[in-house]
Amino acid sequence: MMAASFTASGVAIAVDSGRMLDELCSHFVEHSTVKRDGDLVTLEMMIGKADIRHEGPKLAIELSCKSARALQNIRSVLAEHLFQFAGEDTLELTWSDTPKADRLPDLREIRVIGARNISPHMRRVTVACDDTEHFAHGGLHFRLLIPPKGRTPVWPKLRADGRIEWAKDEDALTVRIYTFRSIDLERGEIDIDFVLHEGENMPGAEWAVNAKPGDIAGALGPGGGGVPDATSMILAGDETALPAISRIAAEVPVGTQLRIFLEVDGPSEESPLPSAGTMDLTWMHRNGAPAGTVGLIESAIKGVLANADADTFVWAGCERSEAKRIRDFLKTERGHDRHKMSIGAYWER
Ligand SMILES: Cc1cc2nc3c(=O)[nH]c(=O)nc-3n(C[C@H](O)[C@H](O)[C@H](O)COP(=O)(O)OP(=O)(O)OC[C@H]3O[C@@H](n4cnc5c(N)ncnc54)[C@H](O)[C@@H]3O)c2cc1C
Repeated sequence: MMAASFTASGVAIAVDSGRMLDELCSHFVEHSTVKRDGDLVTLEMMIGKADIRHEGPKLAIELSCKSARALQNIRSVLAEHLFQFAGEDTLELTWSDTPKADRLPDLREIRVIGARNISPHMRRVTVACDDTEHFAHGGLHFRLLIPPKGRTPVWPKLRADGRIEWAKDEDALTVRIYTFRSIDLERGEIDIDFVLHEGENMPGAEWAVNAKPGDIAGALGPGGGGVPDATSMILAGDETALPAISRIAAEVPVGTQLRIFLEVDGPSEESPLPSAGTMDLTWMHRNGAPAGTVGLIESAIKGVLANADADTFVWAGCERSEAKRIRDFLKTERGHDRHKMSIGAYWER
């Protein structure tokens, strides 16, 4: 693994720490490599690792990461899950270096400067940010924090136990995940492409529809996966993954082999995908069928994998149940190396 230079120790005292360790293992197996040796569990994630030892009523935690930002993220993720698994039981969680109660280091304010439809169902919102450089490395995605209409935003803060403290009631923020479609460091601007999908009560899509110059939101990130480190990739997804696939295509080095499958409603949703790589691009059309119901992404991946070698990186972003079927297929039927895949549930029907 990577050289880790940022570390922290924590102690969680719980009513049933053994059960909590079991729950951590079964939850994190989807998101990391979980190794268990009796009372010691190691969670290895892309951004760092956590050693958690069960000692009587407590869990002794050692975190090590390659950056201060990764350390803060892994600590928050672990803290949130520990409290979730504790449920109604009391849990005391302390850290060797108590996190400073302050605005989150990964949070930046963004201000809308323009919005336009780039296809019938895709709206591009351009935002300005004082620190675009912050979002340029370390993941393609971010959490969009939408403040309630007419209220001054109250941004989340870190708590001493490592969890994030969110504003409540009339100041509660709405959070949705999006992709930085492109980042212009010189102009200090970012494009975000929003799918104008079907449904009711959809704060993310509605924010994009109503976005007007001067609107303020928060961007918490970057996070999630980045551009896969592979010379041959299969990239597949629906409209929600189009921004990420476009960015991966735009950022891969010359010579990378890309086989791309994009499921959209019809030809009017297609868009150019410039790339230095060698690209074989297939657009697949739902022709009016609802998104997440046609299984075209799953079929395309299964079909193309029949002639792909074991080193091919498989990347997909789509509706949750289709993503699960693809992940299950890769893991069980194909036996694909789990380090050579990234299958994301981008939304849920
Ligand atoms: C890592 C990651 C990156 C993402 N990047 C982007 C991005 O760049 N652009 C983007 O538009 N989305 C992206 N998404 C997907 C986006 O987060 C979801 O579509 C989200 O649910 C939209 O929130 P909402 O408030 O509009 O709708 P919600 O309030 O979440 O849902 C309201 C209703 O709409 C339905 N719905 C939600 N999304 C869709 C959809 N795509 N198609 C059909 N029905 C839907 C739901 O089933 C629900 O019934 C990303 C998701 C992830 C995990």
